Amino acid sequence: MGSPKDDVVRFFERSPDLLAIADRRGYFTCLNPEWEAVLGWSREELMAEPSLNFVHPEDVERTCQEIARATGPSPCTTRYENRFRTRDGVWRWLLWSARWDGEEWSSVAKDITTRKELERHSLHDALTGVANRALATDRLCAAIARLGRSAGAAVALLVDVDDLTTINDTHGHAGGDIVLRAVSDRLSERLRAADTVGRFGGDRFLVVAEGLADGGASGIEAVIERVHGAFARPIPTRNGPVTVTGSVGIAVARDPGVDAEDLLRDADVALRRAKSKGRGRAEVYDAALAEEVRHRLELAAQLRGALQRKELRIVFQPLVSMLDGAPIGCEALLRWDHPSRGELLPGAFLRIAEDDGLIVPIGAWVLEESCRQLAAWRAQGHDLWVSVNVSARQLAQLDFVAVVERALRETGVPANAICLEVTETAVLRRPDMARLALDALRRLGVRVALDDFGLGYSSLTHLKALPVDVLKVDRSFIADLVASTEDRAVVEAVLTLAGRMGLTVIAEGVETAEQDDVLRSMGCPVVQGFLYGRPVPPADVLLPDAVLPGVPRPSIATTPTAA
Ligand code: C2E
Ligand code: MG
Ligand code: MG
Repeated sequence: MGSPKDDVVRFFERSPDLLAIADRRGYFTCLNPEWEAVLGWSREELMAEPSLNFVHPEDVERTCQEIARATGPSPCTTRYENRFRTRDGVWRWLLWSARWDGEEWSSVAKDITTRKELERHSLHDALTGVANRALATDRLCAAIARLGRSAGAAVALLVDVDDLTTINDTHGHAGGDIVLRAVSDRLSERLRAADTVGRFGGDRFLVVAEGLADGGASGIEAVIERVHGAFARPIPTRNGPVTVTGSVGIAVARDPGVDAEDLLRDADVALRRAKSKGRGRAEVYDAALAEEVRHRLELAAQLRGALQRKELRIVFQPLVSMLDGAPIGCEALLRWDHPSRGELLPGAFLRIAEDDGLIVPIGAWVLEESCRQLAAWRAQGHDLWVSVNVSARQLAQLDFVAVVERALRETGVPANAICLEVTETAVLRRPDMARLALDALRRLGVRVALDDFGLGYSSLTHLKALPVDVLKVDRSFIADLVASTEDRAVVEAVLTLAGRMGLTVIAEGVETAEQDDVLRSMGCPVVQGFLYGRPVPPADVLLPDAVLPGVPRPSIATTPTAA
């Protein structure tokens, strides 16, 4: 038995907790030996610098707040958690209980790292490994809170696997588990790293996506597409592949005042509405936006059957030579005769077709149909070429060149009578990929035009490396050609550049005689626009005179006469 003072010292020396005294500047002034055992630093090292230097950067702010809150004229106790760096560079979680007596801090800290790790495990769903309900809801709250700091929107998507009970019945619970695991894996793969996928139990998942630029319909639609994409391929199970669909209910948060529980309830309402309409549907809870998203999804669904129902057709607009005002070719432009809305221009549905991938089969059809029409015209003796628009998505298809080749073979149209128009921006998005495809098309013998040229002006430098034959000056430059000296300078520069590179230039959107005069004086070789003819059905197309077989016609791709 020692003196009471010896007892205190013995307790201090042997305590399994971390005992510390710190001054008001945050320097430790007294530490028990346990610190050395837990963190690996010597006590001298720990006392040599402000204790905050050992705290995890993410925890510093919170720690400072806790300390500031308690540091006053009167004694006060505070409890908080933070991570401390060990000598080995790993982090240990400490739970602090600290008392401020007006002069200095007396603290007890416990190493709670093991408990924290267990907690982390309890935040994840055991079956699928994604966040569990608690963690996913927490992430949703955090995403909403961040809305205050940045513009944009966050969305909560509740995703329900349709007919999981049927799957359980026919494939057993093991089969159901495989499906749930595959769905959560695919959701996690398809979403961005910053997004959260959580399982809400049963057949229900929560997806939290944030940073949607303006919370507009297209951003939300893109998330829906990604979620639906997770269900696109059948899931292999021991009893063979299972096809599953998912229903989606979406709620959008645009300001940090939104309550996460309210948002989830809205998403649930939307989900129930989606389920009531059948499987694999998505509904948005947001009056105005819901309407727009619904409209786009509906249009996409209708577009899917439009080809079979023969609602798509092609109109042709003449391309006219400046030499003699004669048509030398025409551009194929897509039209959709919508059953209830009447004729739709590409602007109303092309984006949807692009996003959805529908542009691939539709584009292939446009190509075939254009070749077929061209073959018919050529059989009547009209010597002309047809320009066909190709979207970025088509160009990125590995078999695109094969599709072109087949259309040529089946219709017997010579490759050099087809010009494929790709937009400058499509090429710029993936220059290397585009180059490969364009090179292969070139080898095939088809011509390539850069459409809407001038809008992505940076590409002048890329141009030299690109295998193109024609530049189509965007119509925005032609619109102001007469009034704007700048636009005139751009067109002149394009003509000069093209002349040097041996490319043909086509000016788009020529509407007035004045524009025509300016272009003629600049030596623009080919024009297209309402002045010469609107896009019309094949029967109404202004064709070059029929020529007798064997009588040669001037080459189609006239090189510009401008220097
Ligand atoms: P684009 O390839 O630049 O086609 C020219 C567009 O300008 C056409 O619009 C045409 O009608 C319009 N236009 C022609 N001359 C004039 C004019 O003098 N004044 C005005 N204001 N406009 C004129 P359209 O048919 O609505 O097509 C819009 C765009 O949709 C096309 O622009 C093209 O990028 C795209 N597109 C059309 N058909 C297809 C297709 O089959 N596949 C793909 N991928 N895209 C297509
Ligand atoms: Mg075009
Ligand atoms: Mg264009």
